[in-house]
Amino acid sequence: MIIIMEPGASEEKINKVISYVVDLGMKTIINRGVVQTVIAAIGETSNYSTEQFEILEGVRKVERIQVPFKLASRDSHHSDTVVTVGKNIKIGGENPPVIIAGPCSIESEEVLLAIARVAKECGAKMLRGGAFKPRTGPRTFEGLGKLGLKFLDTARKETGLAVVTEIMDTKDLDLVYEFSDMLQIGARNMQNFSLLNEIGRTNKPVLLKRGLSATIDEWLLAAERIMDKGNSQIVLCERGIRTFDSKYTRNTADIAAIPVIKKFSHLPVIFDPSHATGKWNLVAPLAKAAIVAGAHGLIIEIHPNPERALSDGAQTLNFENYKKLSKDLEKLSQMLFNS
Ligand code: PEP
Ligand code: MN
Repeated sequence: MIIIMEPGASEEKINKVISYVVDLGMKTIINRGVVQTVIAAIGETSNYSTEQFEILEGVRKVERIQVPFKLASRDSHHSDTVVTVGKNIKIGGENPPVIIAGPCSIESEEVLLAIARVAKECGAKMLRGGAFKPRTGPRTFEGLGKLGLKFLDTARKETGLAVVTEIMDTKDLDLVYEFSDMLQIGARNMQNFSLLNEIGRTNKPVLLKRGLSATIDEWLLAAERIMDKGNSQIVLCERGIRTFDSKYTRNTADIAAIPVIKKFSHLPVIFDPSHATGKWNLVAPLAKAAIVAGAHGLIIEIHPNPERALSDGAQTLNFENYKKLSKDLEKLSQMLFNS
């Protein structure tokens, strides 16, 4: 961490800052310029905020050199982490992108099985579907709960697809743990710290969605928390963020986050073109863009009748459009991964 003093800061103020840094267990390197003194604080700086140094008398500005997350950072773990889901699904590294498809909400066994069969036929490796749904309105469909998880289990057994489903509350952890191959932490829960802590104590792979307005540091710090508790099987998922324009798209698809994550973290990163755009006709172009940008996978909402879906129908692909996208993704994958 670099602490830049005010021009002409007194010797007394400089020494107080040095003592403060040393008292926290860090070393200092002092660069006394003609106008300004710069103090480099060396040690475990990730435990401290820049603000706590900024309020010291005589300090103008404080900047981090290291990223605030440590376990999730590529600086501490150079090679790519590959997360294994189920028996042999590999997400991350040089593996070809993994496609996860399924409804927003699990609605009935019949509909889920029809979806699972199409997902399987089109080459998806995993089935998604929410049994516990985070809904903005309190009187909208909030999922089938345990019954939905049972339907998911039936679809898993019939198709052999691994399943990912959202966990919203620590009280449901045992139940969701039992019925899933991967735990999804939704955008709205990215900073639910008690949930992150509990999931960190499990050994189940995690799909950690980016919060609605989370910075990349905040997102990686959420991953850091899970890792800090012991679970490093984390796949990050970019799902679009809130910006000033929501007229044409539900969110702004931050495709740049994909190469940014790959540069600063060793964790795999996938993309959700459904929530990122909110419009079914934008799903295919953004899905392809994300693969070209280096995403390790995609999570896509599909349904036999999106207009009748109980949630997120507007951003959901029908079977015909999903089949077409799958073919295009297959071609893209062959071009990029020679597989
Ligand atoms: C979902 O996957 O259906 C969902 C609710 O996503 P998000 O948490 O990204 O909004
Ligand atoms: Mn959804």
